Amino acid sequence: MTSHYAVFGNPVAHSRSPLIHAEFARQTGQDLDYRAILAPLDGFAAAIARFREAGGAGANVTVPFKEEAFRLATRLTPRAEQAGAVNTLKFDNDGVLGDNTDGAGLVRDLTLNLKQPLAGKSLLLMGAGGAARGVIGPLLAEQPGRLVLANRTVEKALQLAELFGGRISGAPYAALAGQRFDIVINATAASLKGELPPLPEDLLHPGALAYDMMYGSETPFMAWARQHGAERVEDGLGMLVEQAAESFFLWRGIRPDTAPVIASLKSAE
Ligand code: NDP
Repeated sequence: MTSHYAVFGNPVAHSRSPLIHAEFARQTGQDLDYRAILAPLDGFAAAIARFREAGGAGANVTVPFKEEAFRLATRLTPRAEQAGAVNTLKFDNDGVLGDNTDGAGLVRDLTLNLKQPLAGKSLLLMGAGGAARGVIGPLLAEQPGRLVLANRTVEKALQLAELFGGRISGAPYAALAGQRFDIVINATAASLKGELPPLPEDLLHPGALAYDMMYGSETPFMAWARQHGAERVEDGLGMLVEQAAESFFLWRGIRPDTAPVIASLKSAE
């Protein structure tokens, strides 16, 4: 019997997740379908409930519902608990299990696919929404030299810094002047709107990597990074495929091979 999965977001039309999961299913011989569902901004829980009643087995959750999905889950994995945000739901007779595979996806993409070790490096993470929450713990586990979290609404960055026991520092963008980083990760939704957070000119160390979690087109942040001395500029396609593989593993107990899927999506970009 075919099992049903979906990604819920707003907007969601740009999502490549249906393509990725279809490829994983083909590769591993799993009988499932996976579609994208646009949930109204005030109707996420109702949309999930309808999908579940119709026989849905699990879901991915994207912008801007990850924190709401955290509240909706009846059980959480430790990494979702730590993140306070959920991107993967699994429905079963006991309720709704919430997981967060974003951090594992990002770290796998940075360290394995892009061969970028994080230990001892200075990291700047921009944004304090669901995506940023999910990656802080896994980034810290790689033991960077320091991790700064910058956010437009500085209170959110400060709250997250406190949540992680001072192992990161929260800052407004204005406080970045005079600081330099080896790796800058854009986890804001600014790229979705064609916008750029206000960054100082000399933010990047020579040899720096700029990583935008957004994917599918050159973003204002990626263009900015090329103009401001980044040695490498990457989008979030590899992270997307890696976090999808983690979700697939949670749902189906099988780990798909991500490399050919990333290669085929990158060649189509
Ligand atoms: P949220 O809506 O939860 O968070 C949005 C964040 O972006 C907030 O911190 C917000 O700041 C900030 N922001 C929005 N607009 C601007 C702007 N113009 N300038 C500066 N900051 C801004 O979204 P998510 O965290 O779920 O997603 C963020 C991005 O990451 C999206 O583009 C999403 O597609 C991408 N993503 C990619 C993944 C992948 O696998 N490649 C996985 C997860 C996410 P404030 O708090 O001030 O409102």
